[in-house]
Amino acid sequence: MRGFSQMSQSAFRLDGKVALITGSARGIGAACASTFAEAGAMVMVSDVLTDAGDAIAAAINEAGGAAAFTPLDVTSEAQWEEAIAATVARFAGLDVVVNNAGIQIMKPLVRTSYEEWRRQQAVNIDGVFFGVKHAILAMMPGGSAGRGGSIVNISSTGGLVGFPGLAAYSAAKGAVTLLTKTAALECAQAGWNIRINSVHPGGVNTQLAYELKQEMVKLGAAASIEEATKITNRMHPMGHVGEPIDIALAVQFLASDASRWVTGSAYVIDGGYLAR
Ligand code: NAD
Repeated sequence: MRGFSQMSQSAFRLDGKVALITGSARGIGAACASTFAEAGAMVMVSDVLTDAGDAIAAAINEAGGAAAFTPLDVTSEAQWEEAIAATVARFAGLDVVVNNAGIQIMKPLVRTSYEEWRRQQAVNIDGVFFGVKHAILAMMPGGSAGRGGSIVNISSTGGLVGFPGLAAYSAAKGAVTLLTKTAALECAQAGWNIRINSVHPGGVNTQLAYELKQEMVKLGAAASIEEATKITNRMHPMGHVGEPIDIALAVQFLASDASRWVTGSAYVIDGGYLAR
C-alpha cells in the first residue's frame, strides 16, 4: 500500500542521525542503543561502566550497526564536554541526546542523609542539566553539530507523583520533568529546531528495579525478592512491569522525525500505573 502523505513509516527511522545515550552500558539505555542502531542511527554508548559499555558498542557493530563507546560520568561537566566533542568527531554530528543515566536511593525521607540526598541529585538532575545544556550548545545554530535535534530525558512515574521511600529520587525526577519543559520552550522560542521531551517509565525489569526489590526486602515491605516481584507486578494494572524495549521504542519515536511537532511533552509508559 502506498502512503497517504509525504510523512510515512520511514519517519520513525533514524537513518543518518547521530545519538549519544548516557548510562547505556545496561538496562533501558542499552535497549535504546540497540533499538536506535537497528533504526539506522550511529550510536555513541556512554557510561561509567567502561567494560560493559564497550561490550554493548561491540555487539552493535558485530550485528552490522554503527556504534562506539566513550566514558562519561554525567555528574562531571568537563566529561560532558569531552563526550560531546568525541561524538561529533567520531560520527560528524549530533542529532539526539538521551539523558538516561540514573541511580535510585530508596530510603524514608527522615533517614536520608544529606550526602545521600546530594548523590541522588548529582546523578539524576545535575547530570541531566549538564546533558541538556551541552546538547543544546552543540545542536544550536553555530554549535559544533549545528543542525538542531531531539533531546530525550528519562524521568519516571516518580517524576509525576510521590512514592513513599523515594523522596530524593522523586524530587530529582520531578525536577527533570520541569527542566525538560522549560528548556523545550527556550529552544522553541529561539527557533533552534531542538525538541526536548521527557519519558516516564513505570517499573521496568532492570538492575535498578532488582536493587529496589532488595531494598523492599531490607525495609520489611516484602518478605523475599519473589514477593517483591509479585507486589511490583501487581502495582501495574496490566499485571506486570515493563521490559527495557518498551521504553526504548517510545524514546525512538521522540528521537525520530515522526515526533517533529512534539516538544515539552511528558510521555508516560507505565502499564497503566498512573491511570488510577
Ligand atoms: P540500570 O541501573 O540498569 O542502568 C543505569 C545505568 O546508568 C547503568 O549502566 C549505570 O552504570 C549508569 N550510571 C549510573 N550513574 C552514572 C553516572 N554518574 N554517569 C553515567 N552513567 C551512570 O537502570 P535502568 O532501570 O536502566 O535506569 C535507566 C533510567 O531509567 C534511570 O534514569 C532510571 O531512573 C529510569 N527509570 C527506571 C525505572 C525502572 O523501573 N527500571 C523506572 C523509572 C525510571
